Amino acid sequence: MSRVVSSPERSGPEAHRQADLRLSGRDGLESERIIGRYGTLPGPRLICLGGLHGNEPAGVLALRRVLSTLHETKPPFNGQIVAIAGNIRALRAGRRFLERDLNRGWSPRGMQRAETSPGAPAEDGEQAQLIAVLRKELEGDRSGINVIDLHTTSADGPPFLTLADTIRNRAFARRIGLPLVLGIEEQINGALLEVITTAGPVTMGIEAGQHDDPVSVDHHERAVWMALIAGGHLAEEDLPEAESMREALGEASRDLPMIFEVRYRKPVDDGDGFTMRPGYLNFQRISAGEVVGHDRDGPVTAPEDGRIFLPLYQDQGDDGFFVVRDVRPAWLRLSAGLRRLRISSLARWLPGIHPARRREDVLIVDRRVARWLTADVFHLLGYRKSRVTRGWYVFRRRSHDLKV
Ligand SMILES: [Zn+2]
Repeated sequence: MSRVVSSPERSGPEAHRQADLRLSGRDGLESERIIGRYGTLPGPRLICLGGLHGNEPAGVLALRRVLSTLHETKPPFNGQIVAIAGNIRALRAGRRFLERDLNRGWSPRGMQRAETSPGAPAEDGEQAQLIAVLRKELEGDRSGINVIDLHTTSADGPPFLTLADTIRNRAFARRIGLPLVLGIEEQINGALLEVITTAGPVTMGIEAGQHDDPVSVDHHERAVWMALIAGGHLAEEDLPEAESMREALGEASRDLPMIFEVRYRKPVDDGDGFTMRPGYLNFQRISAGEVVGHDRDGPVTAPEDGRIFLPLYQDQGDDGFFVVRDVRPAWLRLSAGLRRLRISSLARWLPGIHPARRREDVLIVDRRVARWLTADVFHLLGYRKSRVTRGWYVFRRRSHDLKV
């Protein structure tokens, strides 16, 4: 293991929680929010979020390691990195959340509600503080800001990246060297990265492996260093371990194709009694009709062939599982080409498709049309499905696709 990624902190998952995530009461929540900062502005900025889910301490641990190495070794550094802790109260408790998922509720209305209750207990208070911190960090010119959000999963499996499918996000994420999963933001509403993406920065989620696996901390750390190189903060030659880190990330995801798209999400509710069939790994192949779990109403089956993604093996969370499908690189090249040509503006001339009044970025699509013109075509052109109403689909063009 390289100098940068080896660390005395690595001593098992329980030790993480006990030793590292017992955040000192002395400073209070406010100062614990900023895990650390290195470098100066003006210049490119990398904003890192860790522990938005309290049972996912690996991100916080990795960010501490990166920052302490930067402060120790003081490499030439362009711009600034800042690392922010997510759900501090839930991190202390070692739970995904106390009252509600902090990676939901980032709609304008949800944020407005949280902002009016900064002293509130549990997630309302956490969200209010996060909003204040993020507003400050996102001040000024946003064209040079990258934001990464560090997570882990309840199932075992290789590390990967999740991103809203914009050309800019793709370009950044492909330099990290991990498989990409596109389009999860179409399935989950109100995630934090969604609102940040809409505000202009390039964004990416990193899923480093299983929650309590110490290797997940290593993968997170490597991915953050790669993001520092990709963002132009560090020159590759100033990080002697860069090559071995890249190799380790490549090795961890060796058997996977590089790009997936999310096809399906199984929503679950507390009253559903949903349980996942044990033993699935992230990206394990499944067939249509395969029994993947059970709920109150009986067996739960996979709706189509593909790979299982984020199967739920913890008691908290509202995503039962997802199905993803491999994407051929040629498809991505085609979609990048079409978006650059702005072919999307032609879609509105197709039968059954109407531009929304006063909203240039929104298309209303007759569901009878959508039966033969699938969502894939809209994805190709840079639209995401944002709503389904009776008889109509609403597609919205992803903002900041090509430029800020
Ligand atoms: Zn998470």
